Amino acid sequence: MPSSTAVGHLDADCFYVSAERVRDHFLHGKAVGVLGNQGACVIAKSYEMKHAGVKTGMPIWDALRLCPQGVYVKRDFRWYEVLSRRMLDVVRAFSPRVEYYSIDEFFFEVSAGINLREMAERMRDAMLREVGVPVTVGIARTKTLAKLVSDTAKPFGALALLDRAAEVALLERLEVTEVSGIASRRAARLEPHGIRSCLDLARADRLLVRRLLTITGEALWYELNGEAVLPFYTERPPHKMLSRGGSLGGTVGQPERLYAWLARNVERLVEELEFHMVRTGALSVYIQHKDGSDGFARRMLPAHTDRFDLLMEAARSALARAWSAERPAIRMHVAASQLRRSGFVQLGLFDAPPERVEAVAKLKREVNAEIGRFALRSGATLPLADVYRDEAQSYDICDVRGKICF
Ligand SMILES: [Mg+2]
Repeated sequence: MPSSTAVGHLDADCFYVSAERVRDHFLHGKAVGVLGNQGACVIAKSYEMKHAGVKTGMPIWDALRLCPQGVYVKRDFRWYEVLSRRMLDVVRAFSPRVEYYSIDEFFFEVSAGINLREMAERMRDAMLREVGVPVTVGIARTKTLAKLVSDTAKPFGALALLDRAAEVALLERLEVTEVSGIASRRAARLEPHGIRSCLDLARADRLLVRRLLTITGEALWYELNGEAVLPFYTERPPHKMLSRGGSLGGTVGQPERLYAWLARNVERLVEELEFHMVRTGALSVYIQHKDGSDGFARRMLPAHTDRFDLLMEAARSALARAWSAERPAIRMHVAASQLRRSGFVQLGLFDAPPERVEAVAKLKREVNAEIGRFALRSGATLPLADVYRDEAQSYDICDVRGKICF
């Protein structure tokens, strides 16, 4: 990277909680915890809840004891992804080269020479105004330095740090494990050589660092010394696999009920494929039986698709193979792999004319967007009327968006 450019790192402040607050103003200023799928663990928390002593990964019963006044909501990755895309649009308005690093973190290139501190502030403010998510922005000479800058400027910070004296002052007070890519195992290898702070690492002999941490560590050494060597990935890779499923909410022995679950999971999978704008080339079904045994089968599709009817046909055949009939099942997963972006897909030679099924799929999407998820769904899911109706069950298995569960 030429020295006339600098690197920015933008990172949302307690992203899952901030995302929940975007759509529910009631949560502003309150102690908020976001729970994992089963509602058992706190996977993210607001600063208010952090002050009460709640830690990420803590079981809900401990969190409730420390923070009984907290509001606990179930995580909704789909919503977080929606906001993540909006965030990406905002970052792109400031920089032509953006790396989508994680759901709430972006690296971006900026030309040096302009007032970078002011730019960081403008980005931060634009993000809050346009998406509603508070973020911290750090700008520095390399990706590794930019991330350290934004990590230390949290929350709602905006900082540009480009001269060596300021870098040294920062590196001096940070432990080496603060560097993204150096966890406790790597730190333990550095310790006997007296390398404890980030500055120790930056000032260590480069060849020693390479010997201890391979070329990965050597790259970090260059980065800490202000030489940008890590590549910039501006293309977001498609997912390798998408899957839907989980508990069957009890034991299921009757074929028609299991088939209904299959239809439900395939519908949810289609929803995911559409959301991520990919089509699948292979479909797998995994079944876990009550007696602990399990079954798995995969079907290759003649052409990449996101059509419910074609996927259901493949899923039905895979289920027949994966399920040991007569044995009650307790879990099911349906997975799509060999994903391709929708734009590159050609129609299969033997595919049925797509107009009709696509018209049905479009209608289904529109009705559901208007009046509620799964309002219009496959008739094959009729045996599960209780699952779609029952609120108590829907918490665990239905992914009701933003449902407050405690
Ligand atoms: Mg974050």
